[in-house]
Amino acid sequence: QHPKDCPLDKDEIGRSTWGFLHSMASYFPEKPTKKQSEDMARFFNIFAQFYPCEPCAIDFQEDMKRHPPRTHNGTALAKWLCERHNTVNLKLGKPVFDCNMVHERWRDGWKDGSCD
Ligand code: FAD
Repeated sequence: QHPKDCPLDKDEIGRSTWGFLHSMASYFPEKPTKKQSEDMARFFNIFAQFYPCEPCAIDFQEDMKRHPPRTHNGTALAKWLCERHNTVNLKLGKPVFDCNMVHERWRDGWKDGSCD
């Protein structure tokens, strides 16, 4: 038992979720099958319905209508998701992330070896 564990708040859910989503996108194949591309687009549409912060989910659904998931290859997906995260960053007044660095942050580690 973990009697001191508490429900996640909005920021904790957000941080963990971005970690999962960016990692998943960074490991998505460069040459996905048609089914993998379609399933990944479906995944994000379903994800946006059930994300456990209602105002966040509503805004994310709207953003996805304007910018549907780009699932034709892994790099496109990672950049698409980075741009979606930047839309949320802008809304919250957080710094914009350089999307050219997304694979270093979430898959390969920084070139200076700081994650080794
Ligand atoms: P986070 O924004 O959680 O980022 C975690 C790490 O990701 C950062 O430390 C950085 O290394 C990296 N990172 C930052 N930007 C990018 C990027 N563009 N691409 C790749 N990596 C990046 N909170 C609200 O208050 N209102 C909302 O409407 C809202 N909507 C959300 C919608 C979704 C789909 C998700 C997953 C989260 C949402 N959140 C929302 C939560 C919010 O985005 C943050 O997760 C939360 O505020 C905690 O922020 P943080 O500063 O710890 O860093």
